[in-house]
Amino acid sequence: MKSSGVSIEIKKQNRNNIFKYILRSKTTSRQDISLALGLSMPTILQNVKELQELGVVEESGRFESTGGRKANVITSISNAALSIGVEITKNHVRIVLIDLSENILFHKRLVLPYRNTNDYYSKLAVMIQAFIGEHPIDTRKIVGLGVSIPGILNEDGTIIADSHVLNIRNVSCKAISSLLPWKTYFVNDANAAALAELRNLPQDSTMVYLSLSNSVGGAIFINGNIYRGINQRSGEFGHLRIVNNGRQCYCGQQGCADAYCSALVLTPKEEKLEAFFDSLGEGNEEKQAVWNEYIDHLAKLIINIRMSFDCDIILGGYVGCYMDPWLQELQSKVAELDPFEQPGDVFLSASRLKQESSALGAAIIPIEEYIDQL
Ligand SMILES: [Zn+2]
Repeated sequence: MKSSGVSIEIKKQNRNNIFKYILRSKTTSRQDISLALGLSMPTILQNVKELQELGVVEESGRFESTGGRKANVITSISNAALSIGVEITKNHVRIVLIDLSENILFHKRLVLPYRNTNDYYSKLAVMIQAFIGEHPIDTRKIVGLGVSIPGILNEDGTIIADSHVLNIRNVSCKAISSLLPWKTYFVNDANAAALAELRNLPQDSTMVYLSLSNSVGGAIFINGNIYRGINQRSGEFGHLRIVNNGRQCYCGQQGCADAYCSALVLTPKEEKLEAFFDSLGEGNEEKQAVWNEYIDHLAKLIINIRMSFDCDIILGGYVGCYMDPWLQELQSKVAELDPFEQPGDVFLSASRLKQESSALGAAIIPIEEYIDQL
């Protein structure tokens, strides 16, 4: 019994790895898969056949011959499965629909100020259903819904334990999931954005995602796996204290990074962040002074993270979207604080994904679940 259980598990793992390889490669051949995964040709033949029968893989033509017999092109069928991602923020809702290859097919941003009321949850459900109804898709292919929350979730993702941004504690996720027909997964917004970012990196990457939005948070990935912490509070970088007896933080402490590095520090009068960066780019002196102070503090936060994790750090969240032109300057400031600095060390980058990253990351979760059970 035991050995057959193990062999079924290995078989499933092989099929899963083969499918993930096909998905990542875009186009490949049975020979390439065999070489890349170190699996025998009979194993590849059998598994590709099964994946074809499941409707997630197809043959599409032949590769140009390099001498021998032309190999068949194997590709995944992107529209075999669809997933919805929703990002809830204080004043807006962002919705995306993605396919099996994690391409964003459709997206929308709507105004809906958050309230912990039945009226809000009903409106949210109606918006999501209306968004799906607007597009010519086969709704039977929707495998799930991922919801990004700006806050801390409990271990099994069923309760929003704490959200400073939404001003709630211990709210059941059923308030949302019970109103929608799909299996629903809830995820912290920084974790979701980091998941989306990981798509562009090697699968076993170790990295920290630093989210610089209206609050500061982050996510830690070690060898491609998220590290959540014992209390699901890992990556709360906003509460690393970077100034002695400093500004008051909403958490009750003083001098937390959140009070110096959140996007709100750049836009205290509710102006748009884009306008801030436009003025900064045009050489506005007032904005330049605000920015200088901001990146001095940000460099302190970053060096603390770098000293703790010794890995690449991706700057994301609202501010991360505008960071590209300022990265070099920031990297130099961090280098001045780095006791181990080597010439040419570059470990900072700006998020490659811009506005949709948390919604996309949330949508990826049902897709990954679907792939895991293939
Ligand atoms: Zn704090």
